[in-house]
Amino acid sequence: MAADIILGSCCYESKEETERAIQLALKHGYDKVRTMLFKPRTDKNSFQGFGLDKLPELLELQAKYPNITFVIEIMSIEDDEILFKSGLKYIAQIGARNAQNYALLKALGSYSGRTYLLKNGLAMTTIEFLKTGEYLNPNNNHIIYCFRGVRSVSDNLRFTPNIGSMLEFIIQMENSPNKYDICFDPSHIAGDRVYVNTLAKVGLACGANMLEVEVHSDPDSAWSDSAQTISFKQFEDLVNIVNNF
Ligand code: PEP
Ligand code: MN
Repeated sequence: MAADIILGSCCYESKEETERAIQLALKHGYDKVRTMLFKPRTDKNSFQGFGLDKLPELLELQAKYPNITFVIEIMSIEDDEILFKSGLKYIAQIGARNAQNYALLKALGSYSGRTYLLKNGLAMTTIEFLKTGEYLNPNNNHIIYCFRGVRSVSDNLRFTPNIGSMLEFIIQMENSPNKYDICFDPSHIAGDRVYVNTLAKVGLACGANMLEVEVHSDPDSAWSDSAQTISFKQFEDLVNIVNNF
């Protein structure tokens, strides 16, 4: 079966841009769209996301597109509670920076029947990543383990693909009773859109059954991570790669 793709801009920008991403997703049979209301940023002066102010817009989009699941990075358990109580259909993403936020991991792990997308920390070993997932999963949650690269020595890529770790991980998880997916994030690894589709092939070759990709209708004007964000045209090429893999 062809790999699934989560797509959308780095941060939530507007209802219009999100609707364009939703339509692109639906056109190709995908149903998970990035809508990052919260953005952890290295520079405190960079845009930090609209936060819950834009939740009403997501609920309007949900009403119009009931089959869409929104992927939203969670920075605090309080925000997650509000999102959950709103009835929004979403996957909570735990980003690289929060992969060692044990208070958040434990709080999310106290729920059951949820789907979480967990990214590896910037220098996490395979076992550390596996153990992080266990915090989220005492109660039969579905975990999407997302390999988003690690800090290493590459001159051109923003991060180094942690594909060795991904291979180890897949072998270690072979007999796991838990529900999980292996996702690969070529966008944050690349840092530059010219590498994204080739990296996606690397991820698929190493066993990913899902990709998370930053896509924008006008990538050069994306509010964050513009350089690594691909156009709708490049996304169409990626869909062809995935379907013919
Ligand atoms: C993201 O996917 O928006 C993101 C911030 O990724 P990471 O946590 O891997 O840096
Ligand atoms: Mn990003």
